[in-house]
Amino acid sequence: AGAATPQPPRQYKLAPQSELRVEVLPDAPLRVRLVTGTAEIFGTELPPEGWVPVPPRSKIAIFTWHGATVELDGVSESEYTSDETPMVIYVNTHAILDARRARARTAAAQGGDKEASQGPRVIVVGPTDSGKSTLCKMLLSWAAKLGWKPTYVDLDIGQGSITIPGCISATPIEKPIDIIDGIPLEMPLVYFYGHPNPSINADVYKVLMKELAKTLEKQFSGNAESRAAGMVINTMGWVEGLGYELLLNAIETFKANVVLVLGQEKLWKMLKDAVQSKSNIDVVKLHKSEGVVLRNSKYRQRTRSFRIKEYFYGIANDLAPHSNIVNFSDVSVYKIGGGHQAPRSALPIGAEPVADPTRLVAVNISTDMIHTVLAISYAKEPEEIISSNVAGFIHVTDVDIQRS
Ligand code: ATP
Repeated sequence: AGAATPQPPRQYKLAPQSELRVEVLPDAPLRVRLVTGTAEIFGTELPPEGWVPVPPRSKIAIFTWHGATVELDGVSESEYTSDETPMVIYVNTHAILDARRARARTAAAQGGDKEASQGPRVIVVGPTDSGKSTLCKMLLSWAAKLGWKPTYVDLDIGQGSITIPGCISATPIEKPIDIIDGIPLEMPLVYFYGHPNPSINADVYKVLMKELAKTLEKQFSGNAESRAAGMVINTMGWVEGLGYELLLNAIETFKANVVLVLGQEKLWKMLKDAVQSKSNIDVVKLHKSEGVVLRNSKYRQRTRSFRIKEYFYGIANDLAPHSNIVNFSDVSVYKIGGGHQAPRSALPIGAEPVADPTRLVAVNISTDMIHTVLAISYAKEPEEIISSNVAGFIHVTDVDIQRS
């Protein structure tokens, strides 16, 4: 990008139920300030005073319910106001979920059964760029503002918002999501898939969903409060073929009871026919916001790289990863799936070689590993790797075959 032309600070007077949409450049700082009234960014209120820096590359909407004047300072890629938003529908959806949470809490207090004390398990689905992650953030922040601690589950391995790409994860949301820091990272539960595309090994993706769901189920059974608050589940934008099958799988695995379908009539109809008729699952169609910014595959690829960089260096470049040299003998590296099948000659006559997609394969350390990202598993034994969550990630910067 060329040098950005300076823009003087400017104020916008926003009518009730309208929003200011802003795209931030990668390298020009931009900040926002509330001058009068009240406004929120994706469900999190702007503080009454002071400037809030908006992270680079973000695309945001500053929305007001009752009217506000806001001021922008810095250069943006684009900024415009709109009074056509689906926010009323979204907040009404929130109100329905809130009532269900209250009902679950009351049931729990009266010693109700597992089913009655379970709050809403909401899964948000829709094609790419329909605003799924954004709706999840709003539903979570609005719930947290009322004192609930819903669990955010992110199944989007391509553009996930909890940790690095290639993972599915979950974390409790105890307060409205911070405008700058995003999803809190104190105690995420993370399972490593290792690729941004589920079709590489859909079986592993399914196994990991099952493991995550199992762990959450365990946590819920010992915690009535988080059980009543329920879950908000974000999914991938792949809604056809195998992508659709994986959505059905996710609904079943996480026992979702509310499916919010963004911006696609056909998907809504398909899911309604597939799940609503057979069970107590509500499949609800919601409008997508015109403000959602389309992102092409190059942009997505770049976002993934930034997410990895952010993991190691922090959003504000305020973390310092330390490097460490480990001996080959001190680490064991495995991958799941792939690997070579048994040669035909090693099989009984007539048997066809089949690759077990969830098979654990020991990996020899080699220079091929340079610049890869490895996850550190909590598994005590290799067999437990596929069912274990991960503690964090390391970036392999060099492999010294000579010294080993
Ligand atoms: P994907 O499935 O491709 O990950 P998604 O459906 O989850 O996408 P979001 O990530 O929610 O889509 O939205 C895409 C981008 O649009 C995000 O950068 C988000 O911040 C931005 N966005 C969403 N709603 C608005 C809005 N009303 N105004 C401006 N930007 C918005």
